[in-house]
Amino acid sequence: MPKEDNADEAVGKNSSRGFSTRAIHIGQEPNESTGAIMPPIELTTIYEWEDLGEEKAHSYTRYSNSNRLALETCVANLEVAKHAYAFSSGIASIDSVFRLLAPGDHVVLGGMVYGGTIKLLKNIYSQLGITFDITDIDNGDGSVNVVDAIGKNIKDNTKMILVESPANPYFNIVDIEAVVELAKSGKQEILCVADNTVATPYLQNPLSMGVDMVVHSASKYMGGHSDILGGVVVLNNDELAERIHGIQISAGAVLSPFNSYLTLRGLRTLGVRMDRQTQNAMAIASMLQAHKKVLQVNYAGLKSHPSHSLAKKQMKDFGAMMSVVLDGDRRAISKFVKNVKVITFSESLGAVETLISNPNSMSHVPLTGTEYEIPHNLVRISVGIEDEKDLLEDLDQALSMI
Ligand SMILES: *Cc1c(COP(=O)(O)O)cnc(C)c1O
Repeated sequence: MPKEDNADEAVGKNSSRGFSTRAIHIGQEPNESTGAIMPPIELTTIYEWEDLGEEKAHSYTRYSNSNRLALETCVANLEVAKHAYAFSSGIASIDSVFRLLAPGDHVVLGGMVYGGTIKLLKNIYSQLGITFDITDIDNGDGSVNVVDAIGKNIKDNTKMILVESPANPYFNIVDIEAVVELAKSGKQEILCVADNTVATPYLQNPLSMGVDMVVHSASKYMGGHSDILGGVVVLNNDELAERIHGIQISAGAVLSPFNSYLTLRGLRTLGVRMDRQTQNAMAIASMLQAHKKVLQVNYAGLKSHPSHSLAKKQMKDFGAMMSVVLDGDRRAISKFVKNVKVITFSESLGAVETLISNPNSMSHVPLTGTEYEIPHNLVRISVGIEDEKDLLEDLDQALSMI
């Protein structure tokens, strides 16, 4: 059955059920002939044909494969969308979206977006005649209105706006509906893209707020266990979906059967993981806010945060990413990150284990020397599902070292 029909049917039949019910069942019916509850990992490159011009379910794994189809069907449903396409990494899914552009087009990156997204535009797309602007950034104190900043950067040839909310590493909230309204109010057609990696489909569905496309790094919360790389593009528009599908199979950065299997396995627990992670995050943010070595806590779950009410309106809950500005020089920050014991000092986010990172020297190095350079004393925390008490104690003892 073509995947479009499959996804449509899944949405129609099951969209009234709760998130975790859908995450566990959509695209994952027991195998008809064997009864296997878990889908086998279909490690095949090729499939046998029925007759001349007549394939069975699939023909060649780059075009489609049962594990990828199951994942795509499920993710489309969780984002309350018609179509989803899985890619070999988050950045490959973002790349597929940029491939919709043509020479002469302009992109606006609203607020802070993933460093790799900026690199992709700078290193590859600028050579193809596609230009971009990064708007002013809200550094967590609410002093910049990102929607206004996007408006100022729209040009006659702007064809795409990409936003991320909550936006890493300050985790300010961008008003997605207002961005859509702005994009659709101008003369020209502007595609709105939301990178929903940090919020996940559990906490926020940007397509329901009017964006044209959602992208995800499945390497983070969807997979959830720091053991895969993957990405997804999710959308409703049939014509755009056709083009993204064409790019997926023609450019070939598809998600492997094994990683499709692991991502779907991860998705089944996304709801419970996120609930626990959010609960831990709230406890950590409250503790850190009262700590004397902490100058600022960037977490919209705190009532004092400038984005608190917008987050409440736009998201189901506040999520589990935050950053803190510590009172210390480089050596103090180095001492802090080296002294955590339960928590791991590492890149990335969204997994079961709690991670801390230093964006200035890790994920956001490309911004060094620019006006958007991240302060050296900002530490990002991706809160995991460990026991709250252990995390609080670990942070407290590491802070006492600086
Ligand atoms: C990690 C990340 C990406 C890139 O995903 P990869 O799977 O590492 O290619 C894109 N956007 C956001 C918000 C991310 O955190």
